[in-house]
Amino acid sequence: MEKEFDYLIIGQGLAGSILAYTLLEKGKKVLVLDEPKLQNCSKIAAGICNPITGRNLVRTWKSRELFTFLNDFYPKLEKQFNSNFFFSVPIYRPFQTLEQQQDWSAQEEKATEEVIYPKNPLFEKNVNEPLGGLLIKNGGHLRTDIFLEAIKKYLIEHNAYQEKLFDFDDLMLNDKATKESYQKVVYQDIKANHIIFCRGVLDKTNPFFDKLPIAPAKGEILHIDFDKIEENKSHQNQEMIRKLNQFILNKGCWLVPFKDKIIENNLNNKVNGLDENVITTFRTGSTYNHDDLTLKPTEEARQEIETKLKGVLNLDYQVTKQEVGIRPSTRTRYPLMGTHKDYPQMSIFNGFGAKGVSMIPYFANEFVEHLFNGKELDKILRVNKWLLK
Ligand SMILES: Cc1cc2nc3c(=O)[nH]c(=O)nc-3n(C[C@H](O)[C@H](O)[C@H](O)COP(=O)(O)OP(=O)(O)OC[C@H]3O[C@@H](n4cnc5c(N)ncnc54)[C@H](O)[C@@H]3O)c2cc1C
Repeated sequence: MEKEFDYLIIGQGLAGSILAYTLLEKGKKVLVLDEPKLQNCSKIAAGICNPITGRNLVRTWKSRELFTFLNDFYPKLEKQFNSNFFFSVPIYRPFQTLEQQQDWSAQEEKATEEVIYPKNPLFEKNVNEPLGGLLIKNGGHLRTDIFLEAIKKYLIEHNAYQEKLFDFDDLMLNDKATKESYQKVVYQDIKANHIIFCRGVLDKTNPFFDKLPIAPAKGEILHIDFDKIEENKSHQNQEMIRKLNQFILNKGCWLVPFKDKIIENNLNNKVNGLDENVITTFRTGSTYNHDDLTLKPTEEARQEIETKLKGVLNLDYQVTKQEVGIRPSTRTRYPLMGTHKDYPQMSIFNGFGAKGVSMIPYFANEFVEHLFNGKELDKILRVNKWLLK
């Protein structure tokens, strides 16, 4: 295997994968090192992209740019990898309070092509929506597990992936032994011009970037299934499950159908009665915990999610799995990226918190433009001000 690269990337979560892809597509020689046994929150993420978030239902930062980019990016990769992992799914947000509803009713002009304010409840039965809700058309869902496998296959095909635990003790940055390797990166038998850390929350203990305001947030998520419940065989419940297949429901917690495209296509062809192609497997969650950062699932989290779900959905289910991940959130609530002030051959691309799926494609492109052409990064993202502290 080739041992000299333009870029050495550490971590194959969404950040490392998409950055590596972006660099490879620009003709660079890239190697990604990843140890799959470590925590990787990308694998368990619900994969939701939502342009309107929070209690106040406001447009997320840079949502226009992010969504224009991602709606092109993921479908393009689906074609290229001949795989299905991205689904445009509207998000239905029943209003939680009268205040929220009145805010929207008072400003109906806020309704755009993206956001619809249906006057009548969408589900009528089984969903608690007495105040109606908002329908966000531009929502989406990435099957991160399928996506990460597809991109790993692509990296392997380009000799750009090695399963390996990166150890800082073996990193040499200022190897002055030869003029050529000065200001390059030497890691064991690998040489690169530049190293980029995409280790998610584990970069909190990165000795070069440990002053960055990474604020880990544990998240738990439940896999649930409607299939094994006897009363869900009734016509009414089956119609309800069919309808739930078409939305991401979001009120206090979210409920997302775990789709793949074969199912989606068949769904469009069937009109009456539930059949084996309707998805009964959903994911729901999630929790936020900044104190307990263990990777252990907890009873409290399960109860919290189930209480919220039962508050919005009147349909029985079985919990089939509970998963945990630690989000690389930041105290600034913005991602972090840039090159180290003392080591021009070292950068970091991290801090995507709870919005990696929508943010990473756009920012990978911005960051590559920054590395290649010196395009200025938004001030809020830059890392060097933290390194001076
Ligand atoms: C419960 C939950 C639900 C979520 N839902 C959503 C959602 O719906 N939508 C959304 O946009 N985001 C969601 N997120 C957030 C999303 O998961 C993150 O934004 C994103 O995955 C961060 O990706 P990352 O690549 O930075 O980190 P990670 O996915 O954690 O990847 C880091 C990688 O670095 C590797 N690594 C670390 N150290 C080393 C080392 N020394 N050597 C080799 N490899 C190393 C790890 O093995 C891992 O593969 C959710 C998160 C959680 C926990």
